[in-house]
Amino acid sequence: MDYDKNLIASVKGFMDEEEGQRLYEVSEAAAKMGPCLEIGSYCGKSSVYIGSACKKHNSVLFSIDHHRGSEEQQPDQLYFDPDLFDETEGKINTLRFFRRTLELADLEDTVIPIVSGSAVVAKFWSTPLAMVFIDGGHTFKAAYTDYMCWSTHIMPGGFLVVHDIFEKPEDGGQAPWYVYEKAKATGLFIELERTKTLGVLKRRTGFELPPDLPA
Ligand code: MG
Repeated sequence: MDYDKNLIASVKGFMDEEEGQRLYEVSEAAAKMGPCLEIGSYCGKSSVYIGSACKKHNSVLFSIDHHRGSEEQQPDQLYFDPDLFDETEGKINTLRFFRRTLELADLEDTVIPIVSGSAVVAKFWSTPLAMVFIDGGHTFKAAYTDYMCWSTHIMPGGFLVVHDIFEKPEDGGQAPWYVYEKAKATGLFIELERTKTLGVLKRRTGFELPPDLPA
């Protein structure tokens, strides 16, 4: 294993260890093909998994976040964390935590922080990506925007990975599940094994036969 487990355990975030291990493995396969991109840096937990794989294979990770916290991380909301609230600004600010994580993980030459909403970054984006990891806002609008803006940039053979997939509404929010299903319905992706709430799709190269072609 080529990432620092103890460091990861100390970083605030919502990624389970088993999901993180899988994310690292997919990132390794992706990093050999090209750059990776994640939406939703937060404090950098997933960036350490993906970034460590990128560093090993001399790739890079673009990590997008406005760093003002998602809807559910605002004061009085379910996932509000007072440590992340900047009193001077009167706002959530996760950027300083994120930068600290990158420094401790020695990933400052591998992970490229992009401080912005994802749709703005996508406006003039043209670099093919070996992996897109969607782990940003969990409203339907946010998740769908991330999917629409970024899934088209995945290179053949690359990966679309979505976090917080809950098939049943009683287990959690449905937006990530919705975009995961949308992606599958395009026929452009092959569904790989899921690890807990981490969904992994591989962009078809065109050389695989689709399973439902008439004989
Ligand atoms: Mg998540």
